[in-house]
Amino acid sequence: MTRRAADPALAADTHVDRFSVPVETRAPGGTTNAYVVGTGETLLVDPAARTDTLDTVVREKVADHVAVTHAHPDHVGAVADYAAETGATVWARRGYEDRFADATGVEPDRTFGPGDRVGPATVLDLPGHAPDGVGFETGNGVVCGDVAVAEGSVVVAAPEGDMRAYLTALRRLHARDPPALFPGHGPRIDDPRATCARLIAHRLDRERSVLAAVDAGASDPDAVLDRAYEKDLAGVRDLARATVRAHVEKSARERRVRWDPEAESIAPVAHEGE
Ligand SMILES: [Zn+2]
Repeated sequence: MTRRAADPALAADTHVDRFSVPVETRAPGGTTNAYVVGTGETLLVDPAARTDTLDTVVREKVADHVAVTHAHPDHVGAVADYAAETGATVWARRGYEDRFADATGVEPDRTFGPGDRVGPATVLDLPGHAPDGVGFETGNGVVCGDVAVAEGSVVVAAPEGDMRAYLTALRRLHARDPPALFPGHGPRIDDPRATCARLIAHRLDRERSVLAAVDAGASDPDAVLDRAYEKDLAGVRDLARATVRAHVEKSARERRVRWDPEAESIAPVAHEGE
């Protein structure tokens, strides 16, 4: 299979190795993926916890750089340890240095923005799931954090999650057409375009259900949840509710519903000409 690298600066032979790390996470499977990107100059992404395997790899390969796709607690657990032991340059997204330091316990040495190089990878702007969300792009694909998963869907939980930004991030990844996506949880995604299209369709589908529920009289997130979600939400109802809120906030900004965040009340918009 020959695929173009989206950017000629991205070496097509940049290795991306995945390490599944058991960690306290609500993602299915109870693991987060850490990645070691590159062979000569290396970037360690999302060291969620220490494992014997990661210890060995980091010792043998020497991590030159450490960064996270976003500073959620299930992605950052061993940043401090590996940074201290390897002397790697610790990077954070510019504008989110405090968020990074609070989550990891480490002050970043350097900051990056979209388009910057971090060791063997280039930074892609992928907010939505988290405000500081980024991908690390190489010629072999994008380490994309929690923007995409091979199966199921991603939590975009208001107030931090931003559904408009999330859809833009998915469209950006779709347009980049990378050869693979390396997600924060679960296996490598070998059909990035199909996966991005599936996730976009899922969100738009859910948005239609949310709007239909509001039109039918659901006037708060719980009522919308009961009408718009057909599946069993045992154990994940809070996440689903926060995702409904993110849909409502998006629809409110697009003037398709009225939303009072204080009272958490939702009302349909009277349509012109109806
Ligand atoms: Zn996350």
